[in-house]
Amino acid sequence: MAVCQLAKMIQESPTLRLNEQARILRAQGEPVIHLGIGEPKNKTPISAILSAAARLNAGDIKYTPTDGMPSLKKAIIQYTEQNYNRLAGLENIIVSTGAKQSLYNILFTIVSPQEEVLLLAPYWVSYPEMIKMVSGVPVVVAPEDGSFHPNMRDIEKAASSRTRAIILNSPNNPSGVLYSEDFIAEIVKYCEKKGIYLICDDIYQKLIFDDKIAVPAYNYTTEDIESSHLIVVNGVSKMYGMTGFRIGWVVGPRELVKVMQAQMTSNPPVVSQAAAEGALLGDQSVVESLRLTIQNNRDVMMNELIGLNGVQVTKPDGTFYCLPDFRSFQMTSTELSNFLLEKALVCTVPGSAFGMEGYLRLSYAGSVKDIKDGIERLKWVLDPESSDDIYIGNRKLTRDWL
Ligand code: PLP
Repeated sequence: MAVCQLAKMIQESPTLRLNEQARILRAQGEPVIHLGIGEPKNKTPISAILSAAARLNAGDIKYTPTDGMPSLKKAIIQYTEQNYNRLAGLENIIVSTGAKQSLYNILFTIVSPQEEVLLLAPYWVSYPEMIKMVSGVPVVVAPEDGSFHPNMRDIEKAASSRTRAIILNSPNNPSGVLYSEDFIAEIVKYCEKKGIYLICDDIYQKLIFDDKIAVPAYNYTTEDIESSHLIVVNGVSKMYGMTGFRIGWVVGPRELVKVMQAQMTSNPPVVSQAAAEGALLGDQSVVESLRLTIQNNRDVMMNELIGLNGVQVTKPDGTFYCLPDFRSFQMTSTELSNFLLEKALVCTVPGSAFGMEGYLRLSYAGSVKDIKDGIERLKWVLDPESSDDIYIGNRKLTRDWL
């Protein structure tokens, strides 16, 4: 069976592949620890459940407007006003089946074939493939200083007359780094001067630690939503841990929003939209409680990693990921990730998927026990000074490769 040229170029998502591998191993009874996972363990907020249940009970499950139910869009307008200090109109907002679809819709709407989109490494694994899917060209900007924080010098060097957009994701998946206010101010100014779209993937905006805050890019422009070059993506997946509902949204100029989705899907599922509306209008202490849990998990992960010889890590400011440097082990990140899964049943994501060869992305979205046991297993695999034996489930394993 022959797939088309474009489809041939698109790589499968390594994170989704790992999730599937972990699921299969678990179904076989293997005690896998998943440090690759991109979702917290919390229960769905009650306000979301009640709102979705009310919809189901009414039996009123029909098409909605393509761009989302007006009542959900009003809740998003309120969220935008509270968090971005900008007044959006109904026509500035479009609801999609997850932030992932929102991002694809944006790229599909603004990128013509061969136009370039700048990605700031480390970057979310799906960005380059989505850009290729709209026949655009991903251009990776890796900070020359080896840090996880981008700078304008590198960006200006990478930009060309074909640059159509830059994707900004702060706090950042996979590093957890929050970009500085000075940098955000500079990049907004640069994009406006050059007429380049700045796509702000703010999906982790609420999951920030140590009293830091993600200052929105809108703070650095006097333009309103309609006239600015900013396009903002958000959703309920991360801040409420509502990954399975698949609701994300875009806030941007109406001319773009108007054409984003109509021929892609008729509308996101109405029950999920009702759940998202319930979450947005419900008690917001659920977000703070999730943030505090994840911050505590981050601290546990940092403490455990200190004891892992040969590994350097930058302390994350937000998200539920960190990106430790495993280059001293002299393996590619894929080799290392496979080795850890094979020997110790620990799932990690190779840094190569994020433009960072030699690194692994570790998630602390799971339980404290998983973090502690997971890093204990990594020590056993990698550190010759650790004990030769370990119990994994009820099996005693002896290391014979160091
Ligand atoms: N953007 C980033 C940076 C992400 O990490 C993810 C999910 O992992 C998404 C977007 C997609 O979110 P959603 O689950 O709402 O599609």
